[in-house]
Amino acid sequence: NSEYLGPEKIIELKQKYLIPCSYHFYRRPPQIVRASGTKVYDSTGKVYTDFFAGVSVMSCGHCNPQINNRVIQQLNTLQHTTSIYLTQPVVELARRLAEILPGTICRSFFCNSGSEANESALLAARLFTQKRKFIAMEGSLHGRTFLTTGVTAIPMWRTDPFVDEVPVSFASDESAVMELLLNEGPETAALIVEPIQGNGGIRPLPPSFFDRIAAELKRQKVLLISDEIQSGFGRSGKMFAIEHYPVEPDMITGAKALGNGFPIGFFAARPDIAAAFTKPSASTLGGNPVSCTAGLAVLDFIKSEKLVSRAAEYGDLLMSELRQVAKAAPFLNAPRGLGLMVGMEVGAYQGKAAPDITDEILEAMKEKGFLIGKNGVNRNVLAFQPPLIIEKAEITAMADALGQTASHILG
Ligand code: PMP
Repeated sequence: NSEYLGPEKIIELKQKYLIPCSYHFYRRPPQIVRASGTKVYDSTGKVYTDFFAGVSVMSCGHCNPQINNRVIQQLNTLQHTTSIYLTQPVVELARRLAEILPGTICRSFFCNSGSEANESALLAARLFTQKRKFIAMEGSLHGRTFLTTGVTAIPMWRTDPFVDEVPVSFASDESAVMELLLNEGPETAALIVEPIQGNGGIRPLPPSFFDRIAAELKRQKVLLISDEIQSGFGRSGKMFAIEHYPVEPDMITGAKALGNGFPIGFFAARPDIAAAFTKPSASTLGGNPVSCTAGLAVLDFIKSEKLVSRAAEYGDLLMSELRQVAKAAPFLNAPRGLGLMVGMEVGAYQGKAAPDITDEILEAMKEKGFLIGKNGVNRNVLAFQPPLIIEKAEITAMADALGQTASHILG
């Protein structure tokens, strides 16, 4: 396999030429060289079933021909021109989003990443409310731009030494949000939530979370932004995860799965909120014909393959399989999540720290041919976020391998 540099050389080049802010989960990370559907291949030819999907991105599967053929055709027809001219895919995608977005949310702004999407939504909230503060949740991750780092609670992602300049209050639960709304509502532009926290450890908001909050947000004119960058586009078993809750968000942000590997991000808002965002704000490549064609092809694929209901059904199977595995291993907690976004917290065991056991499981599962994710504030949560086209046999095979791994650790 001399055509590939191989993991050691790639790590050497990363250490020499990349800014050293990226890190990997694995002691010996594989060099991934190609992928198809739910399978990815490394430079030695080893095949893995992908249970992380590039952090919820590859929901429609790797190198999906139905999506990529349309994108390639668009690439060879028109890639980019400035927004001072008119192009069609961007308005077609915005119209399609309006059909599936919750409530009266119907106007979109396009950019190239989740961070930009949230940054723009936070800005829109300030423009609409003319208030400057935000409320966000403990355990949140909303991006790596200035405002989004500011509303990110996970300490390891609060990179900027001046991040405290962003006026935000963090809440640990429903009653803390209520208290903040009562005290700081008059200065607060928005409450931003991940309906299912991703990096925070796959933690869905409790079902009753909005029971009191929904009315208080309205009373205080504080906007609700649902960050659907990990949870959106069917993964949770509904098109958007906020739809599991009896509340109407004012804004939705999305990215990742909408492009199925092509860079795209967006925020969408109700017409009255959108009407306050009239000052110029343009993203050079935001709304480009190629990314928007990818978005349209993804929405078509989700619909034709019924991926939303599939995520709910296959998520139930994944959850029950993982529940069985957890029962047999004292260091594995019961799984949690919605649809095909499931996490399992790892505990300490016989003198071994939880993050070390988590890494041991990840490494062993990789050897057995399964890529699973890891997250959580303490880096001790196993994350299962496969492509939504995952097969039942792949779910049961993964659970079997995890069961074997757990019993090996039990000794
Ligand atoms: N919000 C959430 C919930 C995320 O998980 C992430 C990235 N993991 C972001 C925002 C930022 O997205 P991006 O990396 O595309 O900027």
